[in-house]
Amino acid sequence: MEFKIFSKALYSTWILYRPERVLFDAGEGISTILGNSVYAIKEVFITHGHVDHIAGLWGLINTRNNAMGDREKALKINYPKKNRAIEDFLRFITEMNPKLRYEMILNPIEPGEEVYLRTAGNFRRSVIPFPVQHTSGEISYGYHVLEERRKLKPEFSHLSPQEISDLVKEKGRDFVTQTYKKKILTVSGDCNALPVSVIKGSETLIHECTFINGGDRRGQNHAVLSEILDNVREASDIKRLILYHISSRYSSKISVLRKKLQEEFAEKGIKIYLVHPERLFVL
Ligand SMILES: [Zn+2]
Ligand SMILES: [Zn+2]
Repeated sequence: MEFKIFSKALYSTWILYRPERVLFDAGEGISTILGNSVYAIKEVFITHGHVDHIAGLWGLINTRNNAMGDREKALKINYPKKNRAIEDFLRFITEMNPKLRYEMILNPIEPGEEVYLRTAGNFRRSVIPFPVQHTSGEISYGYHVLEERRKLKPEFSHLSPQEISDLVKEKGRDFVTQTYKKKILTVSGDCNALPVSVIKGSETLIHECTFINGGDRRGQNHAVLSEILDNVREASDIKRLILYHISSRYSSKISVLRKKLQEEFAEKGIKIYLVHPERLFVL
């Protein structure tokens, strides 16, 4: 399992990304559904302060204090710096829970500020926030998960595999290759369709899709399906698209739409998933 997601626009949204034990947002009901798996969370990244994305924080923090599990593990909560609702809510939770039995680290972050997750073998992974356009006055982020990888320096691209291997033996790997950061995952948070420049190069895109029909949208605070798909087609290098934060008004249409989209995008080598607003999504 890689993802466990619950997302119903206006009600509750959270995304558990298992490989890195990261939680994006903490809508209500999260600790009820996760149970003792709340200990599987090391880092929380909050996209913005709307109640459907933060209401479960208090429950999560408390459950982790009382349920069976390893209390030695710290819990770090990363959130948009100067976001009033989040800061006030965290202050309230902290005051109500003065004697937590584990370490809770609160980390206000700014766009572009990288949070390192772990180093395992040859790769390092990090999460980096980027600003998104949501409701006015609400500081809102999306997040990229980056993985540091190595590639051949362009000046050696003309060499044969044997010549490259000889050069590595002679001069070492750092002489022949350079590091770059690959976007392995992008989470949009609540926003309008993310621009191509933001999503390009991401292996997996989890994008909010509050509106399936553009005619249902009032204001410019949430994404419409057609806009997201246009940008994904243009980006051309996304392997997997997971649509979440879907309004429950479309619940009865999800399965037909999923089939149609999956057929259309299979030709382009893109896998599409829709998070049903009434069901837990596991992938
Ligand atoms: Zn929302
Ligand atoms: Zn919102």
